[in-house]
Amino acid sequence: MSTEIKDKAKATTTMGPKKFVFSFKEGDGKNKHLLGGKGANLCEMTQIGLNVPPGFVISTEACLSYLDHPGKDLPSGLMAEVKRQIAEVEKATGKRFGDPDNPLLVSVRSGSAMSMPGMMDTILNLGLNKKTLKGLIGQTQNERFSFDAYRRFIQLFGKVALGVPDEKFDEEFEIVKKAAGVKEDVALNASDLEDVSHRFLKVVEENTGQPFPDDEYEQLEIAIKAVFNSWMGKRAVDYRREFRITPSMANGTAVNVQTMVFGNMGNDSATGVGFTRDPGTGENVMFGEYLVNAQGEDVVAGIRTPKPVAEMAREMPQMYAQLEGLRQKLEQHYREVQDFEYTIEKQTLYCLQTRNGKMNTTAMVRTSIEMANAGLINKDEALLRIKPEMLDQLLYPRLDPKHKVEPLAQGLPASPGAASGHCVFDADRAEQLGRSGQKVILVREETKPEDIHGFFASQGILTSRGGKTSHAAVVARGMGKPCVAGAEGISVDVKLRQAVIGEKVLREGDYITIDGGTGMVYEGEVPTVEPEFSNDLKTLLSWADKVARLKVFANADTPDAARRAVEFGAMGIGLCRTERMFNDVDRLPIVIDMILADSLEDRQAALDRLEPIQRQDFKEVFKAMSPRPVTVRLLDPPIHEFLPNEDVVVAELTHLNHLKTTIDGVNNLYSSLRLIAAEQELKEKYPSPFTMGGADLVRQAITKKERMLKKIKELHEVNPMLGHRGVRLGLTYPEIYKMQIQAILEATAECQQEGIEIYPEIMVPQVCTAVELEHVKSYVDEIRERIEKERNIKLKFKFGSMIEVVRACMKAEKLAKVAEFFSFGTNDLTQATFSFSREDAENKFLPFYQQMNILLDNPFEVLDVGGVGKLMEITVQWGRRSRPDLKIGICGEQGGQPDSIKFCHHIGLDYVSCSGPRVPIARLAAAHAKLGEATYTYS
Ligand code: PEP
Ligand code: MG
Repeated sequence: MSTEIKDKAKATTTMGPKKFVFSFKEGDGKNKHLLGGKGANLCEMTQIGLNVPPGFVISTEACLSYLDHPGKDLPSGLMAEVKRQIAEVEKATGKRFGDPDNPLLVSVRSGSAMSMPGMMDTILNLGLNKKTLKGLIGQTQNERFSFDAYRRFIQLFGKVALGVPDEKFDEEFEIVKKAAGVKEDVALNASDLEDVSHRFLKVVEENTGQPFPDDEYEQLEIAIKAVFNSWMGKRAVDYRREFRITPSMANGTAVNVQTMVFGNMGNDSATGVGFTRDPGTGENVMFGEYLVNAQGEDVVAGIRTPKPVAEMAREMPQMYAQLEGLRQKLEQHYREVQDFEYTIEKQTLYCLQTRNGKMNTTAMVRTSIEMANAGLINKDEALLRIKPEMLDQLLYPRLDPKHKVEPLAQGLPASPGAASGHCVFDADRAEQLGRSGQKVILVREETKPEDIHGFFASQGILTSRGGKTSHAAVVARGMGKPCVAGAEGISVDVKLRQAVIGEKVLREGDYITIDGGTGMVYEGEVPTVEPEFSNDLKTLLSWADKVARLKVFANADTPDAARRAVEFGAMGIGLCRTERMFNDVDRLPIVIDMILADSLEDRQAALDRLEPIQRQDFKEVFKAMSPRPVTVRLLDPPIHEFLPNEDVVVAELTHLNHLKTTIDGVNNLYSSLRLIAAEQELKEKYPSPFTMGGADLVRQAITKKERMLKKIKELHEVNPMLGHRGVRLGLTYPEIYKMQIQAILEATAECQQEGIEIYPEIMVPQVCTAVELEHVKSYVDEIRERIEKERNIKLKFKFGSMIEVVRACMKAEKLAKVAEFFSFGTNDLTQATFSFSREDAENKFLPFYQQMNILLDNPFEVLDVGGVGKLMEITVQWGRRSRPDLKIGICGEQGGQPDSIKFCHHIGLDYVSCSGPRVPIARLAAAHAKLGEATYTYS
């Protein structure tokens, strides 16, 4: 914007009445909050010299002022400003609003600061009435085109601004099509369309009780109000709630009034939508679809199947070259992939709108790499444009390439990923079934914005009409859900709740699978496979690792999990829960023997059998992670967790006792029979069903079960998570911890002696006082000394503490004198801080708390920075007072959650540790945390 214009705008704002209307030439292209995304862009596009049809924006402030006004009147002076702007547009186009000879027609569109695809309504061809229609016919010499424009306007205006149901118009339209004997709209001639317009005018009058407004300014005023009202429409409100769009992100919608240009003025006209790169793959090619002699809505609504843009290179080579030029200009200016709409009116290309393209993650990653490599953006920008959570999409399953299932139908691959579910044919049903926990695929002829709740509830979307830029495709891609669009072999019947594909009838509830990567549709559930990391993703994450200060470790408990964690890019293991190693079939019986042991000797005997197994596990984990650190946590859960449930044991005992009674009875009978028959004869006649050995076995089993039951009762605790677990268990049964420490240190010694570079760490859980730590440390020292002497080596490892008890936070300074590292166990620390049971809260009251906005997030998922975070912050400061180089990390679930990672970076942790598949997300989040540290705030 020129300084002069800026100054003028400022002056009007500060000195006179508030300025609500801005021409595209003057509006600040960066002020989306005021002008909406679309409006700001139109201003920016105009000001960088793109060929944009002239127009103006009515600000979001005007919208808020209108909605605030009890009588719903437009702010005073607004229509006068609008008239002045229309006069400017008239000057620029040489046309006049309402002129019967050379009429100016405009579009009226909504647009808020955040992109809400399809959320708001649009009116086209405004300004048409009986007089101007004649002018349009005279001007274009095209009656068909003019009546077509008129009937479109009446329908859109009737629906959007006057609330007349779409079906009323559709019914009339069908009557005319039938009478004319045509299937496609394009086959209707001028007089058919004239008939349609008359019928539509009647529809409006019948449904509103008023004639259709003819005055162009009255039309404009009604349209502006309708757009403002749509901000509070159900669809828009639902969308904002679902995506948590707060007033600070978008407040009110702007209205864009713009000169109409027509792609349906003949075969030298066209309309299209495009992406500057392929939004499915990220490939640097022009992507999109167009229709010759058509209006924009035809492409988006999927009414006619559009052609791929590559065909334009043959069909309209000059226009294609211009489009290519536009693509380059858009990317050079916005430095981001653009999703744009254009119209060619009699060989002149107009750019109607552009916005940042919504793409799936594969495409985001690829474009980040390629745009950075081409110097269009820098590496930091390449990282920042991808939300870490998006990488989740790359973890979506694909169809197993080895499957042999024949597809039922094929459509366009509109949004990648594979999904299976029960067919449903309307959005309400999808929502209903989805809520009840069922997996559903929403199957529609085409989707409309009012289907949005069905999208949320579905695993995937299948449509029988429309292209890759249809509503279904765009919305599904934005949500990262698989979508197959335009599967024309499917005929959907919503009333009968079924879809017919050739001979096959799919009824509601039938299971299908869709593959949004290939466009195939299958009957039943087709097996899926996990995706692999692409080279682009590897490159991106390697850039992230260079930027990030936080290291990203994985929580992994077995050698296999460790190997997988390395594939995800884990830089170490932050938590190896040793108890998970106990759960294997060959180990559990030994663990149970250990628990049931009544004497120290018996317990030691069981531990002696466990030690070599644990040692081998540790060695394999260390090797898999070499040369990365591995933090092994000593036994943590209450040991009753390894025993069966009391009810099960009681039931088994009852069975065994019945069996024993039966055996005793049969054996008694056998002995009694001996009294009446010779033994030899008895053996021949009645062989004993039970040997004495069998009876003994049953007795032994009963004794063992009884001991187990007794132990279960002994170990029973009212609050096991706050009971005999962690270090408390380790100190009361020191032989258990000593066995584990020995296994870790022996494995360490073996690796060191084999020349494998390893960094083991021994971590003690549930610590609340330094004295507990000192005790365990004394076991470690004793075992270390022995092994060092026996093997004549110096063992290298660290000793540290988990911080998951509030008291441990308060005593951090003291704990750090013994511990060389801390790891926040924020699952337990959250439980302890809130006094919410981590076992029960999430399915009892937490969802309600979130619904009521008592808590914004589930604190077991997203770190509660205000409470738990505060404790962590204090702990870090106090811990480092006594040990400045204290290594500190987090290994609770929140360690893989991007917002929590930002906080961990902020308080100076050294690493975060999370489950393997979340490691890539955490790596990117760690880079974001570093790049955003200067502006980071939290509350
Ligand atoms: C924790 O409490 O955060 C933790 C990692 O330990 P666990 O979940 O095993 O109790
Ligand atoms: Mg814990």
